[in-house]
Amino acid sequence: MKKIFLMSLMCTILGANVFAQEVDVAKAWKKAEKGEPLTEAECVAVADSVHKRYITLDSHNDTALYLNHPGGKYTVTKGQVNFDKMKQGGLDAGFFAIYLGQRGLDQKSLDSAYNYCSTELNLFKEYVAARPDEAEIALEPKDFEKIKAKGKSIVVLAIENGYPIGNDLDKLDEFFGRGVRYMTLSHNYANCICDASMDKQPERYGGLSEFGFKVIERMNKLGMIVDVSHASSSTLADVLECSKAPIVATHSGAWEVKNHKRNLTDDELRAIAAKGGVIQCATGRFFLSTLPKKEVTIKYLVDHIDHMKSVVGPDHIGLGTDFDGGGGVVGLEDCTKMRSITVEMLKRGYTPEELGKFWGGNFLRAWQEVINVSKRLE
Ligand SMILES: [Zn+2]
Repeated sequence: MKKIFLMSLMCTILGANVFAQEVDVAKAWKKAEKGEPLTEAECVAVADSVHKRYITLDSHNDTALYLNHPGGKYTVTKGQVNFDKMKQGGLDAGFFAIYLGQRGLDQKSLDSAYNYCSTELNLFKEYVAARPDEAEIALEPKDFEKIKAKGKSIVVLAIENGYPIGNDLDKLDEFFGRGVRYMTLSHNYANCICDASMDKQPERYGGLSEFGFKVIERMNKLGMIVDVSHASSSTLADVLECSKAPIVATHSGAWEVKNHKRNLTDDELRAIAAKGGVIQCATGRFFLSTLPKKEVTIKYLVDHIDHMKSVVGPDHIGLGTDFDGGGGVVGLEDCTKMRSITVEMLKRGYTPEELGKFWGGNFLRAWQEVINVSKRLE
């Protein structure tokens, strides 16, 4: 790592009021490894190196629907992610979820949810296939380094809400066969699989439904990652009990920092970690703080990350922005700003190794274990 002239980089990240400075990156990296305090310029330089050296992934965005229908009304925030912006932000990989809000559980509604999901998945795969020089779909962790080495963005397919599989396990097999690698069990309200965190009604099943238990069993066999973000506490408890593989929360915050129903208690964080899973911190401001929008900055996001680390350690945390689904705070308006999170974490003493785990190592380890478990279950 040679000395680099950092003006343009620092202007990009911090605004033009930062003076250009020369930084000995190798020296700054060593300081960061020891957890010694870094100057602002050193943080920026080390952050840039972290994003080059390690796989960086965002485990949840709702961008597929936006890219399928630019200018449409399908997503909450618009255009926070594309392959160009990922490159600019030093973000290697995105998990692009096909999101479905929760509607009726009658057969007609279930069929329509399936058709919608199926169509959107095809549209998004066509979008990626039409850009062979920019991006490639990864089906397992070992694909990541290969795709990164080609200089392309890594895309992983996901479904947010198990609603479109209705009560039919064959549909789960089918979506896996079409490349979907995680399924968020529910959105905010109960579906055929489980109860969800935001439901005002009494719990329909008291956790997983009878069918939901079969869904987890089948996901374990397939090697599909179980995502418990949005699930109710009782659903999470059931999943922790019955899943044979690690589970993840792809975009959730810490209840102790902000008591939002979507966030996870310390006991829940510990239980997910004890199972070998990861908690990927969400960036939507409602999960982070009660302050008005313009006051919620990256610092509040990193407060949640800090809390999670204090509870489960550095091996079970990561990031899931929820971009184009309500994610983002001041200073993290879109994925071009990803390095700013790393800068803030370096200021708080995270080492480059910890940052490598946070940005992807932890999630990919958990995913690989999900695959290993599926092979043992064959
Ligand atoms: Zn969500």
